[in-house]
Amino acid sequence: MWRGAAVRVLRAGGAGNPRSASGAAVAQLRRRLESELEDIRGAGTWKSERVIASRQGPHLRLAGGGAGAYGEAGRALGFFSRCDAAASLFLLAGILNFCANNYLGLSSHPEVIRAAVEALEKFGAGLSSVRFICGTQSIHKDLEEKIARFHQREDAILYASCFDANAGIFEALLTPEDAVLSDELNHASIIDGIRLCKANKYRYKHMDMQDLEAKLQDTQKHRLRLVATDGAFSMDGDIAPLREICQLAQKYDALVFIDECHATGFLGPNGRGTDELLGVMDKVTIINSTLGKALGGAAGGYTTGPKPLIDLLRQRSRPYLFSNSLPPAVVGCASKALDLLMESNAIAQSMAAKTQRFRSKMTAAGFTISGKDHPICPVMLGDARLASVMAEDMLNRGIYVIGFSYPVVPKGKARIRVQISAVHSDEDIDRCVEAFTEVGRKHGALP
Ligand code: PLP
Repeated sequence: MWRGAAVRVLRAGGAGNPRSASGAAVAQLRRRLESELEDIRGAGTWKSERVIASRQGPHLRLAGGGAGAYGEAGRALGFFSRCDAAASLFLLAGILNFCANNYLGLSSHPEVIRAAVEALEKFGAGLSSVRFICGTQSIHKDLEEKIARFHQREDAILYASCFDANAGIFEALLTPEDAVLSDELNHASIIDGIRLCKANKYRYKHMDMQDLEAKLQDTQKHRLRLVATDGAFSMDGDIAPLREICQLAQKYDALVFIDECHATGFLGPNGRGTDELLGVMDKVTIINSTLGKALGGAAGGYTTGPKPLIDLLRQRSRPYLFSNSLPPAVVGCASKALDLLMESNAIAQSMAAKTQRFRSKMTAAGFTISGKDHPICPVMLGDARLASVMAEDMLNRGIYVIGFSYPVVPKGKARIRVQISAVHSDEDIDRCVEAFTEVGRKHGALP
């Protein structure tokens, strides 16, 4: 029916036909967009998307390219059965992936996948509703309760993504009487969330406690002060000085908010995050995080914190109120991922050991790796062209890594970002270091 209608519109000279009024507008739009796209290409900041034909994992099969699946480490962590092992041997020859946020390798964990299938069968494909109309199922409530328990907070609220959680919190919580103090290198979603709110906005220099203190002094006139920071910063793999931030917050009567997307599930002795790592779980008031990275990698985000805050978000937070409920399969993945992490921290420990192996071997080879003890390992190269040609040459050697340069990172700080996962084997790590050493020598990054 609609197809017939579309054909009639086209025959009648609608969208795209330059002879019709709207056709002229579309043609003008096309010219403008094409010129903008050309500018992006010209600036060298074009982001292309590599098409993956397999599941997410340390070994990938690219569309039209080599094969891949889980390797030795996946087997050691019980990610697939013995009968899969023989098949995986030849798959080991595929592309080695070092650029996903699949820190714990749970994106393709068989129990996570099974939980998703069970949730799909029991609760259906989706809710066709926002939460407050008819979109709340028992699994949503169970997952919220589990998240709160995991973080040792009073309550939690689910969103379609952490981008939404960040977009929804500041506007709901802060008024023109309040102030928000944000690290200058916070994630884009925090920046956008803060833009949407009417509070007084202050930006402090990246992890600079003197600057934060000065800004806290300036904001004493406001009713409420909220310090907002990433727990771990994704471009540098550096960790916010939360102990100092919490001390300052206490001194100047401020609240602390952290975005734990690159920490939840693996930082701290039990993987609770940056606040656990730095011993300030009782001092951070609000945590936003994602279900789309270490916790199974499907999608979704959340806020966890004091119950009245979560209750208020359910009433006022626009991305929560006006967007569909999380699909049951996605809820099933995250819920199982949390179960696995609450049972044991073996997977997180395995990832930490591999991170340590990569960082120490790369440093011994002569590279500078930014950050400390974090699976985000930026190989600092300085020059944008060098980062780009080295990343390309790494792929020629079967290692998938991405170069980042200005404007994503500051000028002169181009790098290749490597991300370690629990399902990389020691051999995978060594192969990556060897390829970096060869490629680094070839392009003059190493003597
Ligand atoms: N915050 C940080 C620090 C992130 O790195 C990301 C994802 O890239 C987000 C928020 C958004 O998370 P999500 O993918 O769940 O929207």
